[in-house]
Amino acid sequence: MSKKNTKYIFVTGGVTSSLGKGIVSASLGLLLKSRGFNVTIQKLDPYINIDPGTLNPYEHGECYVTEDGAETDLDLGHYERYLDAPTSQNNNVTTGKIYQTVIEKERKGDFLGKTVQVIPHITNEIKRRIKMLSKQNYDIIITEIGGTVGDIESLPYIETVRQLKWELGEKNTMVIHLTLLPYLASSGELKTKPSQHSVRQLMESGIMADVLVCRTEHTIPKDQRAKLAQFCNVPLDNVIECKDLETIYEVPIYLQKQNFDDVVLKELDLKSDKEADLKDWKVFLKKFKNPKRTVEIALVGKYISLQDSYISIAEAFKHAGASQETEVKVRWVYSGDITAENINETLNGVDGILVAPGFGDRGIEGKVLTAQYARENKVPMLGICLGMQIMTVEFARNVLGHTKANSMEFDTSTPDPVISIMEEQKNIVDKGGTMRLGAWKCALKNGSKLSEIYGTKNISERHRHRYEFNSEYLQEFEKHGFLATGTNPETGLVEALEMPDHPFYVGVQYHPEYKSTVATPHPLFKAFIKACEKK
Ligand code: GLN
Repeated sequence: MSKKNTKYIFVTGGVTSSLGKGIVSASLGLLLKSRGFNVTIQKLDPYINIDPGTLNPYEHGECYVTEDGAETDLDLGHYERYLDAPTSQNNNVTTGKIYQTVIEKERKGDFLGKTVQVIPHITNEIKRRIKMLSKQNYDIIITEIGGTVGDIESLPYIETVRQLKWELGEKNTMVIHLTLLPYLASSGELKTKPSQHSVRQLMESGIMADVLVCRTEHTIPKDQRAKLAQFCNVPLDNVIECKDLETIYEVPIYLQKQNFDDVVLKELDLKSDKEADLKDWKVFLKKFKNPKRTVEIALVGKYISLQDSYISIAEAFKHAGASQETEVKVRWVYSGDITAENINETLNGVDGILVAPGFGDRGIEGKVLTAQYARENKVPMLGICLGMQIMTVEFARNVLGHTKANSMEFDTSTPDPVISIMEEQKNIVDKGGTMRLGAWKCALKNGSKLSEIYGTKNISERHRHRYEFNSEYLQEFEKHGFLATGTNPETGLVEALEMPDHPFYVGVQYHPEYKSTVATPHPLFKAFIKACEKK
């Protein structure tokens, strides 16, 4: 049991998916944190995959990686970016994980003699996963339930919320239901009926929503608000409007103006003398919305049609850009379309280039051409993970003359495997959760650009990869001006490369984007944007 009386907030969604439960949860977390509470946010995902690590980003957006090496839903990225605090393995639970645990227990004989059922065995396991976080002494745990009320696969989660409301007591739990108010242009009206229906659906599962958050394109008229309160059984003050805004970072301020945090504290019988202090957040927003200059950066990747695939990179640009009053315009470039003939035109006029992380060989040669373009034309370039591996391949082919150099991920019989499979990966056959994951230490070389950027020699960054720089080529690389300036202090693995004879040509095996938050923009992104400004 936790020492504190932890309070639990559940966030459910109705009407449609993609209403922004993650942003609402993150915004509420920020407001409550600024009122002095120790808050964490958890996501329950109803799909059967153990984690999104094996999901195509086209289906599920980016896979976010935590400090402790969990491959998680991209909403955890929002939680960290808003709360400026790390999440962990326990912050993302899927149906796959729940069933895996229950089935393993069944095989061990933990339920001997009993029929194992959704209720109570699956719901108990969901409860255990929710309560597990309270051991870390949080005042408030916000649990976002993925999917939409009424989905078959969400049922056990909704049932668990119902049970927890009874077990933990009225004032210790609450449910925030996020719905959509569609706007009918022909009659010029916001419609409340879908919200009424989804609240009713929730009630059929035995749950009353305590607060209604309404996504809407337009301000909700007073009478519609009253109607929502009346039909959905909530006090008028508990109908909160969540209008479409220019940026997701305005949401906390918008919700605060409607006393969202006060409403929630009242429901949970919590008191705080501390006003929500969002001063720094507002400074960020002001700079973000009133930039003094603009740079355009090409983001070259293979998942370009869905920008959620690179969401942490896009957000890291915003944090770092705003901190120095620079707007970062992103030119999304699909690497599969890049050829030697069109590259000048495709990248014409950009101030910088970021080659994205990725897996598989689609669009690889376009990325190699991009790295060559950036190196030869002295365009600032940051390569992340696969991006860094591509810079290595390009350098080996075009500077060192190893024309067939490649990563072993794409060509196992290359005569020059400048990127090779990591030793500990060689015998791994399972795909799920088996990469080099999570935070690893990295030592930066004295006098390097990277040590200057970070302002320290010892850093820690998050990883997600199977391949690595092949150290057999290190001497040759360094002799020709591409230096390994970041290495793992224990194993000597090359984690970062830079080219002194270039305004900014940096490749990192790790993912700096995962650690960028509004409060703490990432130094590497800041330095990269600065270099782009100079160009
Ligand atoms: N596919 C590469 C590897 O596994 C790079 C991974 C990445 O970019 N995250 O090493």
